[in-house]
Amino acid sequence: KNTIAVTDPDLWKAMEDERGRQEDHIELIASENYTSPAVMEAQGSVLTNKYAEGYPGKRYYGGCEFVDVAEQLAIDRVKALFGAEYANVQPHSGSQANAAVYLAVLKPGDTILGMSLAHGGHLTHGASVNFSGKLFNAIAYGLHPETEEIDYDEVARLALEHKPKMIVAGASAYSLVIDWQRFRDIADSVGAYLFVDMAHYAGLVAAGVYPSPVGIADFVTSTTHKTLRGPRGGLILSRAEFEKQLNSSIFPSTQGGPLMHVIAAKAIAFREAMGDDFKTYQTQVIANARIMANTLIKRGLRIVSGRTDSHLFLLDLQSKNITGKDAEAALGLAHITVNKNAIPNDPQKPFVTSGIRIGTAAMTTRGFGAAEAEQLANLIADVLDAPADQAVIARVAQDAQAMCKRFPVYG
Ligand code: PLP
Repeated sequence: KNTIAVTDPDLWKAMEDERGRQEDHIELIASENYTSPAVMEAQGSVLTNKYAEGYPGKRYYGGCEFVDVAEQLAIDRVKALFGAEYANVQPHSGSQANAAVYLAVLKPGDTILGMSLAHGGHLTHGASVNFSGKLFNAIAYGLHPETEEIDYDEVARLALEHKPKMIVAGASAYSLVIDWQRFRDIADSVGAYLFVDMAHYAGLVAAGVYPSPVGIADFVTSTTHKTLRGPRGGLILSRAEFEKQLNSSIFPSTQGGPLMHVIAAKAIAFREAMGDDFKTYQTQVIANARIMANTLIKRGLRIVSGRTDSHLFLLDLQSKNITGKDAEAALGLAHITVNKNAIPNDPQKPFVTSGIRIGTAAMTTRGFGAAEAEQLANLIADVLDAPADQAVIARVAQDAQAMCKRFPVYG
């Protein structure tokens, strides 16, 4: 049979090893999730063969009549899901969605005001190493030093001082509710566009358990693979008036042919996100994050911003005298996958850090509930209390694997 296992055993082994890792490690990386088999089936389908530059009904290639149906389904569903007038489902990634928004209405050299990477923003919100920081005059806001909430007064002050053309809200490592309307008011006070990147929160927003920026921001982007639980990719939402500019900013400005197999998978994920099950799931995602945060606080750790309103939180490890890098490694040995993450004003270098980021989207998909969230937080604290103790690591690894066995991802 012409399967990967037969034709390419080296690659197949890596794929099977990865499948095994996903099954027998507890996944706490806040930007990850497990998609449904239907989403994966679409991505392995014949739609990967098709070129379809353009948009449904207006393509630069023949034979697009069926992929037109697939893309239109994705567009209609995501518009209904988030209550948006306009949607573009072609961005290959979150970064590409963001690039298209900037380039639709800004010129190189224009000023943007986004959240600092060091305080939880994303690279594409103006970091100097990213195109957004190279192409634009990027000014950064951050968290209030005491409350560790977004410092909205600082945002307002910086907006007045620098008169940005666009203000960017949204984050990769911020646990609290973001006050979209406050950002809107600040943007209006200086005549700036408001752009919200809701990549991390999109699934929560779709389920109605986190405030929606749609209808408040001029532009909203998201990835489709985090809490939204679809294939890897991006999307843009906006008002109908920006349709022409945004469409041309994706194709032909920044992308070529759309990934039709991924767009089909997005259509499936958007439909899944409309169901009651999805609301139940997202409610549990937040409940699990809160239980874990509270359990870790009881075990002597500090949560950045003090609490969580979402699927994630940052753990400050300084009280345990362990770096983020070492914590990530010790937890990895114990079959618990996290990523090291800088905390605000981190004394350590970005590759070392004093924190880890914990997210509950993936573990909740595999079925972990309140009891498992508490058990897991205690296992994490056990490792952080004794990261060099091989007996502790072995015992936690055994418990973590037992939990994984009870809750298989794909069975
Ligand atoms: N925006 C935010 C807030 C993110 O957290 C991420 C990914 O981590 C992205 C955009 C970029 O998404 P991608 O990795 O698909 O380019």
